[in-house]
Amino acid sequence: MTIGENTRETRTVDIIVPCYNEARNIDAFYDAVQKTAAAAEGYDFSYIFIDDGSTDETLTMIKQIAEAAVTDVTTVRYISFSRNFGKEAAMYAGLKASAASREGRGADYAVLIDADLQHPPELILEMIRTIEETGCDSCAARRVSRKGEPKIRSAFARAFYKIMNRFSDIEIVDGAVDFRMMNRQMVRAILQMPETQRFSKGIFAWVGFDTRWIEFENVERLSGESKWSLWSLARYAIAGFLDFAEAPLKFTGLLGGIISVGAVIYLIVELLKTLLVGKDVPGYESLVCLLLFFGGMIIAILSVIGEYIGRMYLEAKRRPVYIEKESNIDES
Ligand code: UDP
Ligand code: MG
Repeated sequence: MTIGENTRETRTVDIIVPCYNEARNIDAFYDAVQKTAAAAEGYDFSYIFIDDGSTDETLTMIKQIAEAAVTDVTTVRYISFSRNFGKEAAMYAGLKASAASREGRGADYAVLIDADLQHPPELILEMIRTIEETGCDSCAARRVSRKGEPKIRSAFARAFYKIMNRFSDIEIVDGAVDFRMMNRQMVRAILQMPETQRFSKGIFAWVGFDTRWIEFENVERLSGESKWSLWSLARYAIAGFLDFAEAPLKFTGLLGGIISVGAVIYLIVELLKTLLVGKDVPGYESLVCLLLFFGGMIIAILSVIGEYIGRMYLEAKRRPVYIEKESNIDES
């Protein structure tokens, strides 16, 4: 199949694959993407595998693929981290490597894709077609079903998107996954976001640009288990929310104000009551109630503020997003 017209230079596509303990999936993944690549005439596919501190044979497998690819025309690059830094760090490293490649020109398109074949590689062709036909900057996939996913997880995810879109200044599409193709301009914009605590779903939305969505049915992961526990997902959701929303801060401020005003009104009412009718029972119950209520409020508000300060502290340290241990990329 040929996408677009024939009379033009070959366009370059960087496939960026974050891998954490994916040894059992990598070969199948690579074969599947290579099949897709073979079908895309006029496009030059390269790979950037990010080994995110895997403890299994992932790196060995990647190296084997890279070696075998030397005889082929395909370029397979890899970066291996010194420990597990998380998928966000891996995606960032991949995009950075893509932008720095080809003497700093970068690939025409960079696509982020999971190694577990939950992101159908055939969609890459559709993404290229969408970008070239509509002239948009990015084409991203969203799953229309959450089949094969625990019910409770889907429910939490839905609630997260609702809250996020209601209270933050960016719009995150429900079901959006990190399977996305971008042109080099958008890749550069993303790399300009300097935060070390990265929340890509927010970053993709924040940088703007024209994004088109394509839909796909949820596929179960080829082998192994998802690395996300409900707890880690919850942490991720809270972090993402705090990164892109000031609503909790504003909300706690408002709440504090309302409670204070309420307390003053209550005091006045009590005073008037004592003056007018007098008091036969000393009202210490109401005092205890108020004390507990305010104590609770103060702790809650402080903890929200604490979350923000904690994030500021982490950002202020200016730590690198990841530490590279090994790589076959010489341009740096
Ligand atoms: N991944 C990673 N670092 C991590 C966790 C995951 O690079 O710390 C990679 C993983 O190898 C896979 C992708 O991110 O290619 C998605 O991970 P997973 O399948 O566990 O997430 P899910 O599909 O359940 O959202
Ligand atoms: Mg997966």
